[in-house]
Amino acid sequence: MDPSDPDIAVESSARLVPRPAHPEGSVVTVGHVSIGGREVILMAGPCAVESEEQLLSTARAVLRSGAKVLRGGAFKPRTSPYSFQGLHEEGLRLLAQARRETGLLIVTEVMDARHLDLVSRHADILQVGSRNMQNFTLLEEIGKARMPVVLKRGMSSTIAEFLLAAEYILKGGNTEVVLCERGIRTFETSTRNTLDLNAIPMLKRHTHLPVIVDPSHGTGHAWMVPQLSKASVAAGADGLLVEVHCHPEAALSDGEQSLDPERFDLMVRELRAVALAVDRELP
Ligand code: PEP
Ligand code: MN
Repeated sequence: MDPSDPDIAVESSARLVPRPAHPEGSVVTVGHVSIGGREVILMAGPCAVESEEQLLSTARAVLRSGAKVLRGGAFKPRTSPYSFQGLHEEGLRLLAQARRETGLLIVTEVMDARHLDLVSRHADILQVGSRNMQNFTLLEEIGKARMPVVLKRGMSSTIAEFLLAAEYILKGGNTEVVLCERGIRTFETSTRNTLDLNAIPMLKRHTHLPVIVDPSHGTGHAWMVPQLSKASVAAGADGLLVEVHCHPEAALSDGEQSLDPERFDLMVRELRAVALAVDRELP
């Protein structure tokens, strides 16, 4: 970022993430999927991997609708230690099975540097969650890994802090970083978070890294997700990370913000027109 630019009100020492390092914008390529190109990439799936049936049925549904990447947490950062924490290694095995059966790429959260090898063996893309955006030990370890990573914005982090967290990963030599805006805490309580749409053009201006948006955590309400997805693509997002569950009412986490497959499918149809209007593709 350009420290003289008044947009970023914080002096920054970032060297590798600022846009001038790659003025044309960088593309993160994972297998057959390119994030940051003309195509808007859809990543979709349940908040948490719960069972083989739950994951496979959701994976098949989101694939039919046009998703390229299956999301699903095996290690879940839950506010309460009594909430469902994820299936851990069994969840990772189910994700790998879903990849074999559908061809979808897998993005899943790594919560702790001690799990990095294990998660890397099963995932195609690592996810660093909002609560870990400034876990600098984890960021440094991921910097040494040769794995694409979706770095989610900390719920109370500024854009400058977000970019410097990404800088930790690039500094270690890993340039395959995708930034994810997922909403921030504000005084507003009617939504789980306030999806910061401002962040999309601001990040695009200041960094060459691809930018995706998670409207599920950004709002906390499934009914708002289609509108905010369209707004995100209109504002320049390179992709979306969306929670989808075949039975949201029975989900073990984040059911209230999860779309069912029918609503997800309808949303993708609506998104195509928005993508075209801003000179992007959504096959
Ligand atoms: C998630 O993607 O399920 C998740 C826990 O997201 P965040 O880290 O943005 O809260
Ligand atoms: Mn979730």
